[in-house]
Amino acid sequence: MASGIFMNLGCRTNAAETDELAALLSAADNYVVVNSCTVTTAADRDTRKAAARARREHPEAALVLMGCYVDAHPGDRLGADLLVPNAWKGAPQGVTEALPPAGVRRSRYVLKVQDGCDNRCTFCIVWQTRGRSISRVLPYLEDRARAAAKAGYQEIVLTGIDLGSYRGGLGPLLERLLEAAAPARLRLSSIDPSHIDQGLVRLLEHPRLCPHLHLPLQSGSDEVLARMRRRYDLATFERAVASARAVRPDLALTGDVMVGFPGESDEDFERTLAAIEAAGFMDLHVFRFSPRPRTAAARYAGQVPIAEAKERSRRTIDLGHQLGAAYRARFEGEELDVIWDRVSGGRIRGVSQNYVQVSAPPQGRRAGQLERVVYREGSIDPAPRFSASADVTSDGEWQTASSAR
Ligand code: SF4
Repeated sequence: MASGIFMNLGCRTNAAETDELAALLSAADNYVVVNSCTVTTAADRDTRKAAARARREHPEAALVLMGCYVDAHPGDRLGADLLVPNAWKGAPQGVTEALPPAGVRRSRYVLKVQDGCDNRCTFCIVWQTRGRSISRVLPYLEDRARAAAKAGYQEIVLTGIDLGSYRGGLGPLLERLLEAAAPARLRLSSIDPSHIDQGLVRLLEHPRLCPHLHLPLQSGSDEVLARMRRRYDLATFERAVASARAVRPDLALTGDVMVGFPGESDEDFERTLAAIEAAGFMDLHVFRFSPRPRTAAARYAGQVPIAEAKERSRRTIDLGHQLGAAYRARFEGEELDVIWDRVSGGRIRGVSQNYVQVSAPPQGRRAGQLERVVYREGSIDPAPRFSASADVTSDGEWQTASSAR
């Protein structure tokens, strides 16, 4: 018996939309909603699997398939009774229904502030499935931030497909939301390095803005970045990191890197490794390029053999692990503000303001709760990390099912 089941794939923006829909729909009806993803070939595969599982396990329920897969594969129903493309997902301002209390559905509240992207990176299909950049109005976002704080959320994650393109600027938005969200802290999800400006950097000093940036570097080679049609070169990325570190030496830097982009030479790849090391990423999502339908890069010459791309992926993931361990070691014996999440393997997992993942015995702790802990291996020790190895990413992508973050 289904009666209102939601299966979410893909990015945090999808997750925010799934939560909004769950707040709107009646739990009494009999349906399964699969909010799909198409950012990688692995995401396509996961979407097909999720739809097949929904059909198999809930044959009596209405199956609703919505989101990017629907836009990217028109007519491919996957057995769904209703197809909902992104444009139908809801009014741009979203819903104002009561939020489930912190810890019930999620331990941290995900707030979608923007959708779509005006850039046209040559590997990316997301700008085709989500359309042009559109920003939610400030009063709506302030209302949601206030509601989230009132519902007990200690952290609000701001998300969007191209977050930095928020109309009116991300800095002014953050200032208003920091006020509205009190006492909750805010965290930015993925943001293009070209959108890091002085206003934003100054705000990193705010005690309730998490000292964490997720910058999708993708490549350390300017030639590759140009062929990807990214909006920045390596020097712009390096400047963004240096200015953020100047105000927050404890900054947690996470990011996305793509290996095996067509024409990526050994030298290009070595430049990427050097850039990762110099930037000191503490966590990396590594993606192997795979051609997406109707994207320019799918037709590019110089496709990198799979074995070579896999080897580059392995080396990049290894480097990410080393840098992550070095970053975490800096906080041994230091106090961290952890928000607890779910219990797994007999321990409760949590994440600190600077994105250090920890675990502890669950006694007396509950999902959504904020606790100041002393970070030590053994008592509060680092939780195991899951490495990514999917194919291709977009900036909005930060949490694919395939990469199990
Ligand atoms: S990779 Fe990001 S910036 Fe580029 S087109 Fe896709 S969503 Fe836009």
